[in-house]
This record gives sequence, structure tokens and C-alpha cells, in this order.
Amino acid sequence: MSLKVTLDLDACQGYTCCMMEAGSVFDLDEATGKALLLQPAPSPELRIQVENAARSCPARAILVENG
Ligand code: SF4
Repeated sequence: MSLKVTLDLDACQGYTCCMMEAGSVFDLDEATGKALLLQPAPSPELRIQVENAARSCPARAILVENG
């Protein structure tokens, strides 16, 4: 099953935990100091990483759904 990732930039505080968990899906936007969503629909192989990223986000800014 494919994945759909949503990033709430209003909630994001730039803690970067998501990037440590799933570096191919999240990066840091140097201009804003917030997360940058590189892959809104990552492949299913990245599910564990993406779910760990969502869980690790102190701001609860990442939503992972089945796409
Ligand atoms: S872990 Fe959450 S608050 Fe931190 S950069 Fe990622 S989305 Fe933003």
C-alpha cells in the first residue's frame, strides 16, 4: 500500500528529528528553518522510517496516511 505524507508547516518548529529518521523524505529548508517534504508519496519500503519520523516529531507536524 502506498503512503501519503502531510507536513503541517504552521506546527513545525524545525527540530529536525524527522530528517534523522527519514532523510530521504524530509530535509531542512534553510530559508525558513522548517522541514521540507521531499517526497509527499514515498514508496512503501520507507513506511517504517516515515512512521518513525512522525512519531519522533515533538510538534506532531507529520501525518502519515495510506495513499
Ligand atoms: S521533527 Fe517535526 S518539528 Fe521537527 S523539523 Fe520535522 S516536522 Fe518539523
